[in-house]
Amino acid sequence: MSIAPGSTIGIVGGGQLGRMLAIAAAQLGYKCHIFDPHGRPCAADVAARFTRAAFDDRAALEAFGSEVDVATYEFENLPVEPLSVLARKLRPGVKSLAVAQDRAEEKAFVEGTGARVAPWRSVTSLDDVTRAVAELGVPVVLKTRRYGYDGKGQAWISSPGQAEAAWEAIRGEPAVAEAGVSFGAEFSVIVARWADGRTTFWDSADNVHRDGILSTSTVPPRAIVTSQVEEARKAAAGIAEALDHVGVLTVEFFASADGPVVNEIAPRVHNSGHWTIEGAFTSQFEQHIRAICDLPPGSTALAASAVTMDNLIGDEIAAWRDLLSDPRAHVHLYGKGDARPGRKMGHVTRLTLK
Ligand code: AMP
Repeated sequence: MSIAPGSTIGIVGGGQLGRMLAIAAAQLGYKCHIFDPHGRPCAADVAARFTRAAFDDRAALEAFGSEVDVATYEFENLPVEPLSVLARKLRPGVKSLAVAQDRAEEKAFVEGTGARVAPWRSVTSLDDVTRAVAELGVPVVLKTRRYGYDGKGQAWISSPGQAEAAWEAIRGEPAVAEAGVSFGAEFSVIVARWADGRTTFWDSADNVHRDGILSTSTVPPRAIVTSQVEEARKAAAGIAEALDHVGVLTVEFFASADGPVVNEIAPRVHNSGHWTIEGAFTSQFEQHIRAICDLPPGSTALAASAVTMDNLIGDEIAAWRDLLSDPRAHVHLYGKGDARPGRKMGHVTRLTLK
């Protein structure tokens, strides 16, 4: 059943993804209600309502659920169990969240759908790490099962002697040990899925990371990516279906010599899809709203011959005046205040029309 414009969409999480979802929702005539524990999350500045409460506050979530017509999330490190009070109003559901927030579950789940992942082992002790390094060979990267993002909670092992230091670097937390993948490029497939199984995809961007954080996305991507997109889309669609996912799902890939290797999934709109705001007929944010409200899909076709998106990280935001002096640059400033190192403060999209 579709949720008509004029209704209220609840968004759990108040960061820049929630902000851009709320802006897209407003364009379609919806009101948004943000749920976040922080004082002034940047999404609340562009939303009709804001509840400040902890993510595990069941009473507050229940009250929020009674005030919204549909709810979604923009952040995956949320306690799953309290969200069950939102029941069928929550799209995507808690399964997508539970799988995506634990790297071991995620890898097992993705493998179960038949998609390719890097060889990996689950580790809970230094002995496990030593064994994993012996079995997988170096390099190996340790990634904590939970709460890792943008390269946080990760430590590389390039010789067996580094196992102990890496285990200490991730503070001995339950982790996965993953074989280092030799790749020619990193790219993502962003898929929007409707409850009836319909899917739409955007062109895949070629993503370049710096210090574990996305730096730029470029469309069209290099040939190595283009040649792997079809197989990667099949993998992403299979994952979305197995999760019974409703809304946008992002699957990040390494383009390896053996074909696309799934790195990780995000059950939400994604930084590597920000270029779609101006670079595609329908953005990932609008399409997510359309999918969770069961409206018709918008076209995901390119609106330019080439698009680049550059993230503004930390104090790069200080250049906002120079960036705005290029009259064709689409400058997005998230209004987040404190420009801490590594914090995503904004992005700039540039289109080539030809
Ligand atoms: P992640 O937080 O898992 O997305 O990792 C952050 C970045 O580290 C990725 O975008 C890659 O550039 C790099 N990375 C992570 N895992 C691997 C791997 N198994 N092999 C090679 N590079 C990796």
